[in-house]
Parts: sequence; C-alpha cells; structure tokens
Amino acid sequence: MPHKIESATTGRARCRGCKESIAKGELRFGEEFQNPYSEDGGTSFRYWHLACAAKGLANEVAAALSAYEGPIDEAARAEVDALVLANRRPEMPHVEVASSGRAHCRGCEVTIKKGEWRAAFERMFESPMGPQKGAAYVHPGCLGRYLERERERGREAMDREEAIRRILGNSQLTEADRERLERDMRA
Ligand SMILES: [Zn+2]
Ligand SMILES: [Zn+2]
Repeated sequence: MPHKIESATTGRARCRGCKESIAKGELRFGEEFQNPYSEDGGTSFRYWHLACAAKGLANEVAAALSAYEGPIDEAARAEVDALVLANRRPEMPHVEVASSGRAHCRGCEVTIKKGEWRAAFERMFESPMGPQKGAAYVHPGCLGRYLERERERGREAMDREEAIRRILGNSQLTEADRERLERDMRA
C-alpha cells in the first residue's frame, strides 16, 4: 500500500490519532485512503504522528518504514519499532479468541461467543465509503462449510488444507491448542 512516511511540509495537519497538530519538519505517517468525494476513486492522505500511527496502524507503519529511506532519529526509530511490535495484528487468516460476542459465524450463522475460538479471514465489504477491508469470522469447526459457501457465492476460496496450513502458520498457539484446533478445522 502506498502509505508514506515523510517530513511534515506544514504545521497545519492534525494527527488522526491524538488530534494534536503535527509540527512542521516532524516525521509523519501519511495514510492513503479512498476519497469518498472523488468520482474516479481517487485517493487522499490523512496524517498521523509516527508514534500514534504505530499504535493504530502498526502493520501499515511497519510496511512504510521498511520502504522509507530518509533520515530518522535513532531513538525515535526504536520507539516506533517497539510500538509496532506491541500493536501488530497477526496476518490473516489466523485463529484468535473472540474479544466480543458480536460476530456471526459465516459458516453456520450462529453468534460466536466472547472467549470462544474463531478463525478470522480477510474480506472486502461494501460500505458507503466504497469497498473496505474487514474480517469474516468462523468457528474452527465450520471452516469447511464456510469455504464451501464462499465458493457457492462465486467468491474465491482456498482449499481447506491450504487454509489450515496458513491459519496455523499465522497464529501463536500452545501445542495443545494447535492440536485441538487443527482437529476441529478438519472435522
Ligand atoms: Zn498523534
Ligand atoms: Zn459456525
């Protein structure tokens, strides 16, 4: 994604994270987003203090940092790296413990309870602002059914073994959880 890190050219922009202004000359994170007022799907940037972005958009900042070749203060860099590490989201798909009881399983349509395991897949959702990236959640035991339903709806879905391999590769699990979840996902 073409997000960018750059030195602020003015002192007028406010940070999307803390709402304070970003000083001229300070390094800032430019988050590219789809401009809803643009007819041709044009994009604009909104700006963050680097440290604020590292908390809210850790994965995006990590990617932009690895592409950034300009000067950066060593202490600032260490602070941002630590924040990225603490706030990084695991790659999709992965399994996680549900942090709320709001999501429906896309396999069986039953609500996934808070504290239950769920697999999270990246999916594009239509929204008034245009297509947005979001997550689709599935009970581990509903994985096969979910992938089948995706195919029935004409969406691209990986095969189940591939999905299991990627999910386990992207998740931090104890040996016991890994075994149990793998069994559930194969069921
Ligand atoms: Zn800020
Ligand atoms: Zn389910």
